[in-house]
Amino acid sequence: MLRTKEQYHDGLFGMRHNIHIGGEKVGREDHRIRPGINVLDVTFDLAQDPKWKGLATATSSITGEEINRWAHLPQNPYDLLQKQKLIRLAARRVGGCIQKCMGHDAISALAICTKEIDDAKGTDYHSRFMNYMKNYQQRDLDGCCAQTDSKGDRTKRPSEQVNPDAYVHIVEERKDGIIVSGVKMSITQVAYADEIFVLPTRALMEDDRNFAVAFAIPADAEGISLITRPVWLREKDDPEATPFCRYGVSDSVVVFDNVFVPKERVFMCREWEFGRRIALLFADSHRHSYSGCKPGASDILCGATALAAEANNIQKISHVREKLSEYAGAAELAYAAGVAAAVYGDKTASGVFFPNKIYANVGRRLTGELIYHEYNILTEIAGGIAATLPFDGDFHAADTKKYLDKFIVRNPKLSPEVSLKIWKFVESIGASPMSAWYEVAGVHGGGSPIMETIALNLDYDFDEKKRLGRYLAGIDAEFDDSQALKLEPTFGCSLLDNEGQNKNK
Ligand SMILES: Cc1cc2nc3c(=O)[nH]c(=O)nc-3n(C[C@H](O)[C@H](O)[C@H](O)COP(=O)(O)OP(=O)(O)OC[C@H]3O[C@@H](n4cnc5c(N)ncnc54)[C@H](O)[C@@H]3O)c2cc1C
Repeated sequence: MLRTKEQYHDGLFGMRHNIHIGGEKVGREDHRIRPGINVLDVTFDLAQDPKWKGLATATSSITGEEINRWAHLPQNPYDLLQKQKLIRLAARRVGGCIQKCMGHDAISALAICTKEIDDAKGTDYHSRFMNYMKNYQQRDLDGCCAQTDSKGDRTKRPSEQVNPDAYVHIVEERKDGIIVSGVKMSITQVAYADEIFVLPTRALMEDDRNFAVAFAIPADAEGISLITRPVWLREKDDPEATPFCRYGVSDSVVVFDNVFVPKERVFMCREWEFGRRIALLFADSHRHSYSGCKPGASDILCGATALAAEANNIQKISHVREKLSEYAGAAELAYAAGVAAAVYGDKTASGVFFPNKIYANVGRRLTGELIYHEYNILTEIAGGIAATLPFDGDFHAADTKKYLDKFIVRNPKLSPEVSLKIWKFVESIGASPMSAWYEVAGVHGGGSPIMETIALNLDYDFDEKKRLGRYLAGIDAEFDDSQALKLEPTFGCSLLDNEGQNKNK
């Protein structure tokens, strides 16, 4: 089934009121979370549109039915390429984050890790998860991912924390399920998601076994409270004024206070040895997703900068053209890293196809490092007006309009109306609450920057490079470079080959 946005709303607006915003308890129809719902609406619309069949939709590996791509477990490089393309397409439509990839990255991580736990421990998590997924796909549900725990003292492991609720943990195991408590934070989209996928956020030791827990739970289940921070442009902005004004995001602190999770929804229960594995599976998949969304964000910043240059009538000046080309470099290198990660990925034992970790991490690191620089280019080209533009009302009030109409025009080829639209857009992109959200998300989304370094140190073969250096320096007489050729594309003959294995591994 492919749900329409109206069907998505019906489910959402019937949910238990468990959202808190600024001291008020509210339902999902609260206007402050609407800009985020508008983003999800676009993803449902894309799946309904025949034009995007096969991109916004996929064929389920479980049922063979047509499903929403966000509920699909990637089976081959093509699926990863389609995900990446869809993220960029949708990001450009909503002016930024499409918020669907976290849930998608979580289902990939769960499918892969439940199989690995079962193979090592003889448990039955994988079939449980696949049963869950069948229902999830058939109902076209929307899931977010709650991985980041509140963490408390960063130098202490979960079991060493003074406050045990710093990490979500198992309080009690019963025959029919588990009781969990604890706090997750910075969880995007949960205020308008049907389901929450809960995963551990870090490597765990045996003492931390109660913190080794993964499950899926409705976002309004008894015992769950969402303390939500909506981000959108400004209260005074008319949401219908421009396409960009329509969209926003909400992040929440998610409190689990003795929440019962039925057994059929529990996908990891005390297998502490798999804490690191599942955390990295989510993070690495998410870093691949960034190779779709971050190029979309660069496209938007590039568009805003090009418009600002035109409004300032400096679009032909050489330093402006050079700066604009930096966006092309950032966007397309990140996109290329995502393509490489898809093409050089691996088929896991679960059948889910996973992106190459090196390319996913280098792509993500590049975009994280560049994010403030990209905003800086916009600021440099636009001048200070993004932060000092008078309010809309003054451009329409009789006693100020006549002055501001002249003030706002810099390029004589542009009318006051178009000039104002450009500078409003530049303000929205470069100097609004949304700008701050994108800057911080650009650095920390998918893990703080050190996590990419850690991932690269785990997987990148630095020794091989050292052996190369020894050979070229004349220290060693020979150099075996057969390992350097290990990275053959995964597909033997076809990107669509469901059985495609990396035979060269
Ligand atoms: C806009 C936004 C949206 C997000 N959406 C989601 C979401 O939907 N789901 C989700 O699960 N998460 C989400 N996150 C959370 C994101 O994954 C985290 O912010 C990120 O992993 C960093 O974790 P943190 O914020 O706890 O920072 P920290 O991990 O505390 O990092 C802060 C600094 O402390 C350092 N540090 C931390 N621990 C140690 C240690 N043990 N030793 C040495 N140094 C240490 C780090 O390297 C870093 O420099 C979102 C974040 C943002 C900003």
